[in-house]
Amino acid sequence: MIDIKSLTLEELTEEIKALGEKAFRAKQMYEWMHVKLVRDFDEMTNVSKAFRDVCREHFSFTSLEAIRVQESAIDGTKKFLFALEDGNVVESVWMKYKHGNSVCISSQVGCRMGCRFCASTLDGLERSLRPSEMLDQIYAITKLTGERVSNVVVMGTGEPLDNYDNLLRFIQLLTDDNGLHISQRNLTVSTCGIVPNMRRLADEKLQITLALSLHATTDEKRRKLMPIANKYSLIELMEACAYYFEQTGRRLTFEYSLVGNVNDTDEDVRELIDLIKPLNCHVNLIPVNPIEERDYVESTHERVVNFKNKLEKNKINVTIRREMGRDIDGACGQLRRRHTLEGAR
Ligand code: SAH
Repeated sequence: MIDIKSLTLEELTEEIKALGEKAFRAKQMYEWMHVKLVRDFDEMTNVSKAFRDVCREHFSFTSLEAIRVQESAIDGTKKFLFALEDGNVVESVWMKYKHGNSVCISSQVGCRMGCRFCASTLDGLERSLRPSEMLDQIYAITKLTGERVSNVVVMGTGEPLDNYDNLLRFIQLLTDDNGLHISQRNLTVSTCGIVPNMRRLADEKLQITLALSLHATTDEKRRKLMPIANKYSLIELMEACAYYFEQTGRRLTFEYSLVGNVNDTDEDVRELIDLIKPLNCHVNLIPVNPIEERDYVESTHERVVNFKNKLEKNKINVTIRREMGRDIDGACGQLRRRHTLEGAR
């Protein structure tokens, strides 16, 4: 069956016409799904009961069930655990900032990238999410909070560039002016650095922000933290970043998770400056959120501040990521993992 919420308006129009309905019906249905955020054909009240029945036979209609919601007592961040139709679960995070609400979504069920400090990858990849299932996380949260989402970051579980075609279609639907119409500039996609797909993305010439999870400044160190570094060298990675900027004019973000005594020394920051100085970029420092399964520890506050100051002295734009929702399994994949482990007991 065709996944109706993953169709563009043009594609939906063709489908609806093939079923013997007028084209304007597709526009109405698209609006029900992507603006009014309905969860079922039966909520489409200006579509006849007979045609809704026809649609049910032809299309599948994804929708998520919130099975757990945790709210941070510290900052109001909410973490949602959603069940997909096939029983898999994904997590998404809602964060309230002064400049608007931001949602962090997952792009896959699990992940196969194997980054050493990350909880999402411990059980490997189950499957990739469909475009509709990525949209659904935003739609469900909009409905549950009753507030408009202004920013979307694809930084939850999964590697978005390992689900390239679905990611692209998701972006097209999310930014479509017949849908929620979120601006490309308010969308960030974070990658561990799949070089060929970073270049492909650059060639799409979108106005989204690309965030690269760097985390180390030499190939040797990076390989210890991130298996993907065995495939692509830092030089290739930096060239791909420069290419992204050339093609899109968009400043890159480098994410750097600070792990105590692993990548947070003076030498590390010096090397980081040398590596990224030539690029138009922004650095996001993330104090590592330790997971039980690994023995990595957070950098001391002093080291974090030292890192930030040294970057700033070198005129590199830097922020320390606010540690949102740390009391509610804020780090990638932790809530889903807890859920899976509890289920297994
Ligand atoms: N696969 C993508 C997006 C998911 S993770 C990527 O690798 O970029 C979003 C960011 O959080 C990445 O920079 C990731 O390396 C980082 N991250 C994952 N687990 C973390 C943890 N326990 N502590 C700090 N940062 C973490």
